[in-house]
Amino acid sequence: MGIWQKEITKLLLLLLATAIFGAVTGVFLPILLLLMLGIIVRQIIQITQFEKWISTGGRGKYPKATGIWEEIYYHIYRIKKNEKRRKKKLGKMIDQFRQSTEALPDAAIVLGIDDEIDWANKAARDVFGLQQSDKGQRIPNLIRFPEFISYLKSGDYKESVILPSPVDNRITLEVRIIPYGAGLRLLLAQDVTQLKKMERMRKDFVANVSHELRTPLTVLKGYLETLQDLDDENSPLLTNSFQQMLGQTERMQHLVDDLLLLARLETQQKKTKCVNVPELLSQICKEGDTLENASRRIELTLETAVHIRGEEQELRSAFTNLLSNALKYSPENSLVKVRWYQDNVSIILAIEDQGEGITKVEMPRITERFYRIETKRLKKVNGTGLGLAIVKHVLMRHDAHLNITSELGKGSCFSCRFPICRICM
Ligand code: ADP
Repeated sequence: MGIWQKEITKLLLLLLATAIFGAVTGVFLPILLLLMLGIIVRQIIQITQFEKWISTGGRGKYPKATGIWEEIYYHIYRIKKNEKRRKKKLGKMIDQFRQSTEALPDAAIVLGIDDEIDWANKAARDVFGLQQSDKGQRIPNLIRFPEFISYLKSGDYKESVILPSPVDNRITLEVRIIPYGAGLRLLLAQDVTQLKKMERMRKDFVANVSHELRTPLTVLKGYLETLQDLDDENSPLLTNSFQQMLGQTERMQHLVDDLLLLARLETQQKKTKCVNVPELLSQICKEGDTLENASRRIELTLETAVHIRGEEQELRSAFTNLLSNALKYSPENSLVKVRWYQDNVSIILAIEDQGEGITKVEMPRITERFYRIETKRLKKVNGTGLGLAIVKHVLMRHDAHLNITSELGKGSCFSCRFPICRICM
């Protein structure tokens, strides 16, 4: 029998007993009232007892009760016991998570909505010099590097940012922010000192080797040119050999020059001034026209006269590379359109050719160093595979982007998009 049925049966039996007693004694109503009063008083006592127990958080064993009240106490007691067990389990899990994140070699900081530190592991305390008491402090007040502050404010966390450690500037950190949940962010910092050191060594090595190769190559080319002049052309084998050697020496010279330029782009400080791009483009297009023996192929359209802040030599080599590619990789009498124009957000240099185009598979790879498309026709075109890598680097140093669109058999368009804030006239 259920608890409710028991309670009701008890009440009915009491009522029956009262009715019989009332019938025998003839005072039914007062006895009934007395019974009701007794029931109400009992309930009030139970409620008071319950309120007292629950107001202390329902701690300890519940008070003695009978009937439905015992059942209520028992249910609440059971819920609380389960909750306690779950809490314990969760606490254990959190402890394990804390211990594992504490042991992580990478720094991890949980940031709140207002950039305040919610939690930081040991590595974060070590590399950023944080104290336990810094919890709740805003992180821009503790890590004050301008690059970090603008990265934090930008809200664009696709890329990471490289910073020296505030406690030891010999340590280089790669900092990345990962947003999660509602407005929360996880800041991760990795020690990349060794990696950066190796990268610097690689750059220095390439720059030094390229530099050292320059002089012997110039000497070699000089002798080859003299020998070619002395050649009486009686031996076609010798003439052909000189030509081949000179061709290969020139190829190596281009390679060394491109490698040196890339090394300079990677290491040199940026120096900017106001560059007259329309004039620069006119010069480059004129040089492009004279390079080609065929009739004029370049059509230059200057839709805007704006100048931009930048490094003239770097821009010259990027634009020359793009134009020479457009000429190299398109048929002899086709047109190459060069356009300097502006839209709401950018100033754009677009170089469009009517060449063979680039497949979707090759597209993401052509800006990689030494990557060249190996089709039968393109194989014959001279190049180092470094031209577009140089373009990408130059544009990166000018906060610009390279957009490439291409249609097989119809042609390609390479656009350099400079942000409007670069305009200086
Ligand atoms: P390269 O010295 O070989 O020209 P780049 O880095 O300038 O080196 O270009 C990489 C590759 O991208 C080239 O080998 C070529 O296959 C392809 N490419 C570059 N520009 C064009 C273009 N305008 N049309 C078609 N293919 C191109």
